[in-house]
Amino acid sequence: MARRPRRIAVDLVLGLYLHIPFCSAICNYCNFNRGLFDADQKTRYVSALLTEINRKGDGSPADTIFFGGGTPSLLEPAEVQSLIDACRSSFALARDAEITLEANPETATRDRLRAFRDAGVNRLSFGVQSFRDEELVRLSRLHSSARAREAFDLAREAGFDNVSLDLMMWLPQQSVEQWLSSVDALIALGPDHASLYILEIYPNAPLRDAMARSKWSLAPDDDAAEMYLGAMSRLDDAGYIQYEISNVSKPGLESRHNLKYWSDGEWLGFGCGAHSTRRGIREKNVASTEDYISAIGDDRSVGSDRRVLTDQERFEEAVFTGLRLTSGVNLETVRARYGIDVWDRYGEDLRPFVEQRLLIYDGGAIRLTRDGMLLANEVMTIFIGPPVR
Ligand code: SF4
Repeated sequence: MARRPRRIAVDLVLGLYLHIPFCSAICNYCNFNRGLFDADQKTRYVSALLTEINRKGDGSPADTIFFGGGTPSLLEPAEVQSLIDACRSSFALARDAEITLEANPETATRDRLRAFRDAGVNRLSFGVQSFRDEELVRLSRLHSSARAREAFDLAREAGFDNVSLDLMMWLPQQSVEQWLSSVDALIALGPDHASLYILEIYPNAPLRDAMARSKWSLAPDDDAAEMYLGAMSRLDDAGYIQYEISNVSKPGLESRHNLKYWSDGEWLGFGCGAHSTRRGIREKNVASTEDYISAIGDDRSVGSDRRVLTDQERFEEAVFTGLRLTSGVNLETVRARYGIDVWDRYGEDLRPFVEQRLLIYDGGAIRLTRDGMLLANEVMTIFIGPPVR
């Protein structure tokens, strides 16, 4: 019998996100807010981040810190330590807080990883992307598959017992078999968590030019579905639990931080381009690293956008993100928070998806089946509808 997904409760304890926008080289497909590493700028940026954390700190409970980027592992361990200390003195950080650092394999050394661990980081997330060297070269990544394996081993040696690996599927020239060989390589290493994303190539990505020049193509759409389903089935067999469209973990090791985004939680973001969502208000910081540093230096606001979300927007987001979870959307929670009976209002439109076994409705929740996850966007459009009455 299929295992019933664990219910994910609404979590209103804050997550703290710290954006580190520096990279050693810019990958040809990357659309994140990042720039080339500059030691002087990094020092000024860390000092600005410390100021922003101190400014916004109000002693509220928080139980996750996530260093995302960019490449946060380019920071010195002492800088990471000072940022964690600032979070601890500005918020009521839980003793067992999950503290994640995104890392690129080429930055991992035994000493640095040990020092990150000593600084308080207890979860590493490595951007591996592929275990095939020819694919890593096509993506202009700096590491090799051997270096990724070595980084993982070094993390274990440094005492990290919660390590996540990212892979990307549907890469140029990638066949289903080649993709699955990367998934097998990941399973062989045995990380505690894995994220599998489909590569999305944005319009002006240098990778597009490289593909045109080298006549690289993408596998057909049907293959992308086969890649997804094949990977998930192998991960099931290896004892991983899928808890989100793109994420699996060993039991109990879901990303507590990312769950805040998917379960209608609250978080504060620090650093350039970071956004925060709290008490129904969405705020975004200026995207440029230098503008951010100057705003902090001049004691000006770093916010570039502040919006009170409408009830309809909050409801839609709660449903969209909830549908990403294998536990789905808890209908009682939505009713309590937004006063909407989802099945009453949308049941008629959702029923065809239930009949096609893309969606499950069990009276208390709606959740996508694995096949339904491939068509998640179609189901989600049902909810872009009338304003909340
Ligand atoms: S390392 Fe990550 S953030 Fe940096 S350029 Fe590459 S994909 Fe973008």
